[in-house]
Amino acid sequence: MLKKIAQKIWQEFKNIPGVTLNQKVIVLEVDDFGSHYLSSLQHKEGLIKMGAISSKSASNFDGLETADDLKSLFDVLNSHLDAEGKPFRLTPFVNIANIDVDKLLAGEISPIYFDDYLMKIGETSLLEQYRKGIASGIFVPQSHGREHVATHCLLEAFQSGNEKVKSALLENFYHPKLKSDLAKYKSFRPGFYFDNHKQKEYLNEVIKSALTHFNRIFGYQATVFCPQNGVFHTDFKPILNQLGVHSIVESGVRYAPDGSGGVNSYRNYVMGKRDSLGLFSYSRNVTFEPNKFGAKNAIITAMRQIDSAFRWNKPAVLASHRSNFTSRVSLENRDKGLDGLDLMIKAVKKKYPDVIFMSSGELSNYWGKRQ
Ligand SMILES: [Zn+2]
Repeated sequence: MLKKIAQKIWQEFKNIPGVTLNQKVIVLEVDDFGSHYLSSLQHKEGLIKMGAISSKSASNFDGLETADDLKSLFDVLNSHLDAEGKPFRLTPFVNIANIDVDKLLAGEISPIYFDDYLMKIGETSLLEQYRKGIASGIFVPQSHGREHVATHCLLEAFQSGNEKVKSALLENFYHPKLKSDLAKYKSFRPGFYFDNHKQKEYLNEVIKSALTHFNRIFGYQATVFCPQNGVFHTDFKPILNQLGVHSIVESGVRYAPDGSGGVNSYRNYVMGKRDSLGLFSYSRNVTFEPNKFGAKNAIITAMRQIDSAFRWNKPAVLASHRSNFTSRVSLENRDKGLDGLDLMIKAVKKKYPDVIFMSSGELSNYWGKRQ
């Protein structure tokens, strides 16, 4: 009971600071597009059997989106118009590279960029769908970093002879769950984790190539950046700023590696605050994970959080993951997620007929004009 009251107070409290809007704006941000995870149902079952992933993880349906997934997603987005007649927007936060496992096994870090990766696996039609989504403004990617992998830590674990890491890599999987001293790497998901100065310097180069290749692949500069798993360091901000990023997602608990094996954590809940470099930081103040919690529960929770955001004249920025919208492991998974999304947008429109749909880039531009 007390916990629920505390949660309610916190939900209101975190929406108070920041830049107010005179319109009810909703933004949907979905992480992890572009990255390899599971390649099929068989891949998933094999990995569960060898103990590389847990049978209960919500990520167990995650895998590279297909061209057909995007077509189906666009149908849902286009079927809803806002008060200005614009279709719903979903902003994918994209990893523009995966890792070359063969080279890693030979001791080398070598990213395979998104276009080359799609060529390699014979799925170039996916990039055509991306371009259609970008052209229509309903699916305009922003940056989630280069590969969604702490490749430098993965390579070290492999080279130190960790058998679990080696057997996962041989199965073309980079994220085995690990115990003891390797547990801190969180299955090598946080790409911007570092243990020392050398790794930190290397990550500066990773950011440079992430944003340069983003521009090359999609034909425009990413203006919004969301670090993976909330792990990042403010020392990386100048390079983001130099390469055209205007806004950075800083919601929930943030984790900043201290460079000697530890991590400092902090919270930053200010919507649209500009720092000394000129970068805006903002929070995702609504959670929307229809497949993890069930569409009904996910919508009830999201609506409560959207109500709070609008009560304080803040945009409702929804946080979600690709695992809700991909069919790589199960077509039923994608269809469930799309149905949940459709119902959520209907519920928002019913309660707030004057709602405006924006992409993350549009919201970032809005702040830029205001301040
Ligand atoms: Zn992510």
